[in-house]
Amino acid sequence: MKTYVFDPISNEAFTYAQTHIDAVRWDSPEINNYAEAEAAIVRTFKMTAAVIDQMPKLKIIAKHGVGVDNIDISYAKSKGIRVTNTPDANMNSVAELVVGFALECARRITQSHLAALGGLEKNQPMYLSGYELAGKTLGLIGLGKIGASVGKKLRDAFDMKVIVYDPYAKAEQCNSLGFEKIESLDELCGKGNIISISVPLTKETENMISSRQLSLMKETTILINTARGGIVNEDDLYEALKKRKIFGAAFDVFAQEPVTKNHPLLSCDNFIATPHNGANTADALIRMGVGAVDEIIRLKRGEAPLSAL
Ligand code: NAD
Repeated sequence: MKTYVFDPISNEAFTYAQTHIDAVRWDSPEINNYAEAEAAIVRTFKMTAAVIDQMPKLKIIAKHGVGVDNIDISYAKSKGIRVTNTPDANMNSVAELVVGFALECARRITQSHLAALGGLEKNQPMYLSGYELAGKTLGLIGLGKIGASVGKKLRDAFDMKVIVYDPYAKAEQCNSLGFEKIESLDELCGKGNIISISVPLTKETENMISSRQLSLMKETTILINTARGGIVNEDDLYEALKKRKIFGAAFDVFAQEPVTKNHPLLSCDNFIATPHNGANTADALIRMGVGAVDEIIRLKRGEAPLSAL
């Protein structure tokens, strides 16, 4: 099946594609002549209606990753084109970043590194004192794939108590994981030492953490957002961090991306940023690439998709 790989994918995944399907690489001269494409693998490449119209033989668009905002799904479906994604491929990488953020902030690792770089007169300055995760409370906002994985890791590795705010999660689901379901966001904000956000950006979740929720948090609270920019009000967070109302925050996602070096939050010594790096691991990239290729192989064999949209 003639497959155009419009964006770079891992070498392992491209080699896998070459052995099973007739794959055209993103950097080959042939890539712009896509009229013969029967399948497409995309990461950020825009599959608009106009582009789809130029591929009359197209049968499948396989998204490498989760978010499908670069694909005109309804138009593709109206043409009988299957659209798939790889929803489970990056869950573990993002969850591991959350664990890293929790440890990083609780033990002020980057701040300590910067202090060492700047030169210290004595060891163990009080301003670099942190706290242990063991026995503390993890508040999960959202109990989907990433939230559940974060909860299990921090529960098992650090004996953290886990509480959950997710109106769509069943109490039995929380109980079966040993987590406690909390009915209000305010209550979770007041109880969590580490609070980790894993919800989609929707009208309901936009600015769901603003000055009021931040004012309910403890001085020991560390707020982690690896979900989407816009869920936390960045101006309000800046005020809370500058006034040391909470212990710290770590974000992988921002309202405007990529985050710029003059972003006010980066001037806070109790704030850590990564540039939407949650799924940027060799492991997740291989899983996303191979997962996308597998969906094309399934179609070729006349099988049902694993994850169709
Ligand atoms: P998921 O769909 O498995 O889970 C989302 C959860 O959020 C669900 O359990 C849902 O019930 C809950 N939810 C929805 N609205 C809510 C609300 N108003 N209050 C509380 N809970 C609510 O998604 P996931 O795979 O766990 O991903 C979570 C987020 O992480 C998504 O926004 C995704 O875009 C983001 N993400 C980021 C990266 C990264 O690189 N940083 C990578 C993958 C995913």
